[in-house]
Amino acid sequence: MADYTEMWRNLGLNLENHAGLLAVLGEGYKNIYLSQKGRPKGMEYFDFVISEVHGLRIKEIADAKKAGRKVVGTFCVYVPEEIVLAADGVCIGLCAGAEVGSDEAEKFIPRNTCALIKAFMGFKLAGLCPYVELTDLIVGETTCDGKKKAYEIFQNITGRVYVMEIPNMKNEESKKLWQSEVVRFKETVEAITGKTITVENLKKGASLVNAKRRALQRLSGLRASDPAPISGLDALLINQVSFYDDPVRFTQMTNKLCDELEERVKQGIGVAPKGARRVLVSGSPMAIPNWKLHSIIEGSGAVVVGEESCVGERNFRDLLDESFSTVDEALQKMADRYLQIDCACFTPNDERLGNIKSMTEKLHANGVIHYALQFCTPYMMEAYKVEKALGSIPFMRMETDYSMEDVGQLKTRVEAFLEMLK
Ligand code: SF4
Ligand code: SF4
Repeated sequence: MADYTEMWRNLGLNLENHAGLLAVLGEGYKNIYLSQKGRPKGMEYFDFVISEVHGLRIKEIADAKKAGRKVVGTFCVYVPEEIVLAADGVCIGLCAGAEVGSDEAEKFIPRNTCALIKAFMGFKLAGLCPYVELTDLIVGETTCDGKKKAYEIFQNITGRVYVMEIPNMKNEESKKLWQSEVVRFKETVEAITGKTITVENLKKGASLVNAKRRALQRLSGLRASDPAPISGLDALLINQVSFYDDPVRFTQMTNKLCDELEERVKQGIGVAPKGARRVLVSGSPMAIPNWKLHSIIEGSGAVVVGEESCVGERNFRDLLDESFSTVDEALQKMADRYLQIDCACFTPNDERLGNIKSMTEKLHANGVIHYALQFCTPYMMEAYKVEKALGSIPFMRMETDYSMEDVGQLKTRVEAFLEMLK
């Protein structure tokens, strides 16, 4: 890796803490990822991306900024990436999946806050997130109460938070509110970037994001095979990387990997023996580098075949209808597409139940592990309805955070659950 110290210093990072973070991340990646057997060759690209997660990609984004492009950070799959790309902006996910800066975060927010919120606050406060430092606009949204209130504090800290109002229901009034929010977001992006969003550049943005979604759909479809041609850990990583890599390159590399996986499927090559137990993971998002549950499940001999999550299927399930001919029509179609997302922040949210059942069937999962971050009320509550809807399909609820303290206990529970799948 090149020496990026000067770049990190210019971004105002805490160099000592940052060096410690990279060392821990590198060690964790080696133990969890590089120790896997039978990985596809195409994963080398994603290994490289991770090795440069605070290096080359940050340099690319910093160079894009120097060339006049604006950087928009997001925390939710409800934020329309197409609009950012249409204004030639760079869109990056800011969610964090490691227990970092908790002490600093707890000076601003309660201890009993979900780990994802605590981590994005903690990364910023501890001077560890180069992505946040590069943003011109940070887009929050009114989803769960924790995020909603944390954004007010994040605005005090960063001074560049913009909040989209996401309704909690999907009736006609809510749809109108959401449509007006998509229009307001487009106007905000135009104001920040100084660019006028036209139908032509919206078409370009839509085509880029849809191509990325198609590549991820293709990857998801290939995981239905038995033996599974790719581990759940690797597939999760690809979904995590999709939130901050260059979209064109990411799509090319994911499709290249899928070509290799298709070959593996034809030849019956897998990462676990044919007939290995197959698990669908469903629930709260797993932001990078949260690999905890997947490593426990796969370390116990099963394969994770899908993620019913925002870092997974919920992010790429629906394509945007590209058959629009005016800006208004594009924004209308965009609002419709995004409002289909089945986040547990909505009430009711019965579409999610059907989607989990259909994923279980399509991916030939033998059981479902419902994952909720501790203090993530929407997903913790919805677990009850998911369990009921799944009927006789083996189901287990799991609530955890980013710490490693409960790994032994979770492993025992997962092993007992896998026994049931035999
Ligand atoms: S779980 Fe809900 S709030 Fe969180 S990223 Fe997904 S859609 Fe947004
Ligand atoms: S994981 Fe749950 S509590 Fe945490 S930010 Fe997402 S929806 Fe909110």
